[in-house]
Amino acid sequence: MTKYVFVTGGVISSLGKGIASASIAKILESRGLKVTLMKLDPYINVDPGTMNPYQHGEVYVTEDGAETDLDLGHYERFTKASMTKFNNATTGQVYNTVISRERRGDYLGKTIQVIPHITGEIKNRIKKVAEVSQADVVLIEIGGTVGDIESLPFLEAARQFKLDAGEKNVLYIHLTLVPYIKVADEIKTKPTQHSVQTLRQIGILPDILICRTEKQLSDDVKEKISLFCNVRKEAVIESPDVESIYQVPLVFKEQILDEIILSHFGLISKASNLQDWQKNVVERLLSPKKTVQVAVVGKYIGLQDAYKSIYEAITHAAISNQVKVQVNKIDSEDIEKHGPEKLLKGMDAILVPGGFGGRGIEGKIKAIGFARKNKIPFLGLCLGMQCAVMDFARGVCGLKDANSTEFKPKTKNPVISLLLEQQDVKDLGGTMRLGAYPCKVKPRTLAAKVYKQNLISERHRHRYEFNNKFRKLLESKGMVFSGIYQKKDLVEIVELKNHPYFIAVQFHPEFKSKPDAAHPLFSELIRAAAEKK
Ligand code: GLN
Repeated sequence: MTKYVFVTGGVISSLGKGIASASIAKILESRGLKVTLMKLDPYINVDPGTMNPYQHGEVYVTEDGAETDLDLGHYERFTKASMTKFNNATTGQVYNTVISRERRGDYLGKTIQVIPHITGEIKNRIKKVAEVSQADVVLIEIGGTVGDIESLPFLEAARQFKLDAGEKNVLYIHLTLVPYIKVADEIKTKPTQHSVQTLRQIGILPDILICRTEKQLSDDVKEKISLFCNVRKEAVIESPDVESIYQVPLVFKEQILDEIILSHFGLISKASNLQDWQKNVVERLLSPKKTVQVAVVGKYIGLQDAYKSIYEAITHAAISNQVKVQVNKIDSEDIEKHGPEKLLKGMDAILVPGGFGGRGIEGKIKAIGFARKNKIPFLGLCLGMQCAVMDFARGVCGLKDANSTEFKPKTKNPVISLLLEQQDVKDLGGTMRLGAYPCKVKPRTLAAKVYKQNLISERHRHRYEFNNKFRKLLESKGMVFSGIYQKKDLVEIVELKNHPYFIAVQFHPEFKSKPDAAHPLFSELIRAAAEKK
């Protein structure tokens, strides 16, 4: 029998529900259980693919090419579970399915309603994840905050789920905030009480509370929460602020959260082993040997979530090199205004991430030129690769107006352009080149040295490609095309010789990096940065 854990959030958003869910999954996995996770998102967009990163944060891409919520990134980084298009469902998708069915006549004669039709479709999607993954435990994170109008159908489906799966096979965890009020020097439990009350009104009685807090919770406070919220005292779990998100599983483990969940389900399983995680991830992260300065030159610098997987992959590389990486977030438009020297001087590495639209492009190109000329280790991702090609075409090959047709459709030197198959695309949602593609690595190149493999697979999310008409010219001037998608002869990796580390890729390696297995493109960048230092 599959077991289901629902994770809801109360009081405020941004409590780290995704990290909490991933950490719970991690400690259960460490007990030998097969776990998977799912995110239910209350918004009406079918997926986040068409949303601005400032609205939504990063769009996380799965192997099978789904554009999903960034929490799926946490799920893959913390556990062995692999995410698919089934692991993220939105209100938009659920309604889409039900309305298409209605048009087909599947419900002929009936009135279509939130209960049972919408909630039924939500439950079907949860069961589908259980079926596809064959996991022992499925964790379902419900987006939004309890009390929101939008998340009600999801919560109602979670309530009903006990009837479908059986009382003993369902568990509810509520993540809440227990604030410390400075002027009163007191920890306040009222918001938690209210949030649990709201949950109870919709028929969900939480089994476990996870309390986000900046101060330690005394026994009295835990007792009070337990009494008012009707949750056993040992199931009131404390989740204090920690230096790194990778400590959270250890924090939960210390309070035997895994044991509490297993005993609820009546599961017996092997003893946990989080020692590797503690030693190879947390301890290395917290005891760096030196500090390196990395510049991330992008256009969504103001929002931490916009480049989530990239920042995490940098952290993984810091762990593997046992250094502290100071990430300097630099707005590419500032480089346009002030020039690269002023903002990039003293950097040990420069990373240019992906993006869409022309704003800030020239700044990115200038930053890459600066890295090229000053031999600063550089990694370009997706748009970062396209900009590296533009910089090289302009700065080394003399094509002063080299550009991408994304930004200048009529340019005379379209070094980046659309494939024929993309030229007639009308719908913008879900039509990019998405998901995993194989890539052949050219022997005796930097890419070969980094990957130590000749056939790799990486995830994509872009519409534009390197224009092969310019390959000969750029090659003759020293650019190396070291990774190719052979089936369509598409350039996936470019690099430069006579440079300590200059490599740019059309794909998104950040999605496959893990805290205990840093992606080699990132760990080698940080290694080169540390060597330069
Ligand atoms: N805008 C570029 C394209 O669509 C790059 C996309 C990206 O960086 N993810 O090809």
